[in-house]
Parts: sequence; structure tokens; C-alpha cells
Amino acid sequence: MTNQKEPKPVGLLACQVDPYLWELETEVHACSAEPNADGFYEVELLDTVLFPEGGGQPSDRGTIGSAEVRHVYREALRAIHLTSEKFEGGARVRVKVDPERRLDHMQQHSGQHLLSAILEREYGLETVACKSHVELKTDKTLKLDPGQQAEIERRCNEAICRRVPVTVETSAYNTDALPSSLPDDYVGGVVRHVVIDGLDRNACCGTHVTNLAELQAIKLCHTDRIRGGNTRLFFLVGDRVLRRLHEAQERERRLTSLLSCGPDAHVAAVERTQLLLRDASKHVRSLQSEVAEGLATRLVQQLARGPLAVLHRDGADSALLFSIVRAIGDTGAAAASSPPLARGVVMLTGGSAAAGGGGGPVLIAGDEALVARSVEVLRTHIPAMRGGGKGSLWRGKSTDWAGLDRAHAAISAAVAGDGSIQ
Ligand SMILES: [Zn+2]
Repeated sequence: MTNQKEPKPVGLLACQVDPYLWELETEVHACSAEPNADGFYEVELLDTVLFPEGGGQPSDRGTIGSAEVRHVYREALRAIHLTSEKFEGGARVRVKVDPERRLDHMQQHSGQHLLSAILEREYGLETVACKSHVELKTDKTLKLDPGQQAEIERRCNEAICRRVPVTVETSAYNTDALPSSLPDDYVGGVVRHVVIDGLDRNACCGTHVTNLAELQAIKLCHTDRIRGGNTRLFFLVGDRVLRRLHEAQERERRLTSLLSCGPDAHVAAVERTQLLLRDASKHVRSLQSEVAEGLATRLVQQLARGPLAVLHRDGADSALLFSIVRAIGDTGAAAASSPPLARGVVMLTGGSAAAGGGGGPVLIAGDEALVARSVEVLRTHIPAMRGGGKGSLWRGKSTDWAGLDRAHAAISAAVAGDGSIQ
């Protein structure tokens, strides 16, 4: 059932006329009979305090009666609320907005208008898109350096300190004088201009603060160069400045305790730690290659006695296992007439063999037939093992090495009986 009364068009919604009105008693104009694909009913009210997403400002959230409103969007001049509850046309309802979220949006949106106005007036930089950043039409000659950024920030904050009023001008829809930013499906109703006294006049459907003083502060953040030569300038307004500062302070406090030095020395302390880490890693790599050579010698000795050589080394990663196999190969090169891996197979495991230790990597290398057979036997004993490879090298990992000893014995028996061993 549809309510016969005409709903207020977008442009004259209560949220746009008075952005500080947090709730309103109104009537349901219409509601979809069935929920949409996402399970939401589409509800239109005679008027609303919930702003429908548009003009770079996100949708409000709130409630209609006890039903939560998940999203509000504009369809031509209608504001459509998505709720999980169904409503009857004509029903009287109370609609409420989430004021915290709205105030944040108003601060960011009015702040963006102010920032764009200063950028355009003072620096000739046009805003072509906006969100939590403004996207500026920059090129090789028209760009933004850190000095200019500091000056822009100073000018924005100066306008906030001067408590400049922000007003909305509403005029009749006139096809001869339509702002170019008006969406194509916005036909009829009224056209709104948001005016920052003496600084800016911009067509906009959004909700705004009534005085720049309510922005508290603007902080310009980093810039990103994006494709096409444009620049994104990120900014924070109002409560977001304080929230970000709070987060930064918390981080600083934790770093002070972790690095055992005051904030002024944080960067130097991290640089020193990174340098030490680089040196230590280099040292570890050289020790590892020595270890790999030592272990390779032992494995080559094992291979001289039989077709299988096995090794589990707790803590070894797959890089160390590979260097052991390489070192065996190098030993083989010295004995070119009879390389050790051509005669048999090596099976290397790393990580942790302890129960619940998380397993680790496995590497099997050598004679093709022996590698294939070893993998086959190993799979039956270690069901958690995954991996792949073909020919003389197979690599994998397991989340558990329980049963590894039994697997070693079974593989030993399996490869000893292989006909390819001479
Ligand atoms: Zn706007």
C-alpha cells in the first residue's frame, strides 16, 4: 500500500534542511513487498533525517522504529532506506540517525570543501574526486610541494579559527543554469549550493556543519601520485585528527618501551637494529653453509654404506635442506666418476619433530626410481604430508612429523630391496 501524500524530494530532506536534526516523526510512503537479493526491504518515507549516499558523502546509518537502516541511497529524487523489516504504507514511524557517524561525515565533507576551495583559489589546483582524500588535477608544472602543503594547512586552520559561517542556498531546478556536477538522474526538485562565506560556493547535496569552527582542525597527511599525473592528498578533519593523534601516541608509547629510548631516538634505534640484523643474517648464512657442508659429508658417508641417507634437523628450513643437497652435489662433482646421489637417495626433514611442534619441510633427492619409492612409502606413514616434484627431486612439507622414525625404517627396507641398486 502506498501513502498518497507526496514525499519530500532529495534536496529538501530534513537532513539537508537541518543537518543537526537527529530524529523525526514521519510516515512511510512506500515499502517493497519482498526483500531484495540481499534480504533488505526498500523503504521510502515522507521525509527523513538519514542522508542518502551522494556527492562524495557516505550514507547515514540509523533506525526506522526498531528496524536498523543499513544503507540509504538516492534514486532520482527519492531516498531509499534499506531495512531488514517490512513497513506498511501510511504507518507512522520515528526515524533516527547515528549522530556520531554523521558528525564525522559532516566534518570530513565540509573540511573537503574548505580544502578544495583554498587549493583552487590559491594554487589553481582543481579537485576532481574526493573521499578521505582530494584528487587533484596535477601535472609536471602544477604540483604540490611540502612547503605548499604546510601553507595550505595553515590557511585552512586559519579559516576554522575565524569561525567562518557555512550556509546552504536552495534554488529552483532550472535547465538553463544547472551545475555540471549534478548527476544525470537528478531532474526536478531543487538545486543546493553550499557556501563557505567569502571562500567558496559549490553545488552539493551533502550535509554540512553550519560554521567552520565545528571542524576543530584540519591535518594534511601524505600525497600519492596516481595514474594520469593526478595527485591524491589525504587529510583528516575534527575528531579524526584527535583519534589519529591518540593512535600515534599509543604506538609511540609502545615503541619507547620496546626500543628503550625516547621518541626522538626511535628512528636511530630502528636503523641500528636493522643494521645489526643485516650483519647477523649474513653471519647466519655463512654458518649455515658451513653446517650444510658438514652434514653433506656425513650423508655422503651414509650413502657409501647403502642406498639411503636420512637426516632430520630440528629448526632447519627448506633453504638449509636445499644447501645440503647442493653440497652433496658438490662433493659428487669431486668424485665425478660416481656421484653419490646417482647411487641412492637422501631424505632430509626440518622444522620440529616434537609432537604438536608443527612439522616442517621435507626434501628427497637422488635416483629417480628411489625418490619415487621413498615418497610413496613416506606418504603412507605421514598422511599430513603435501608436496610435489618429479625426477630426481621432490619437495614438500608436513604439519606433523609423528611417525618419522618408523617412516625412515620403512623407506630403508623399501629401497634396499630395489632392483636398481647395484
Ligand atoms: Zn559536497
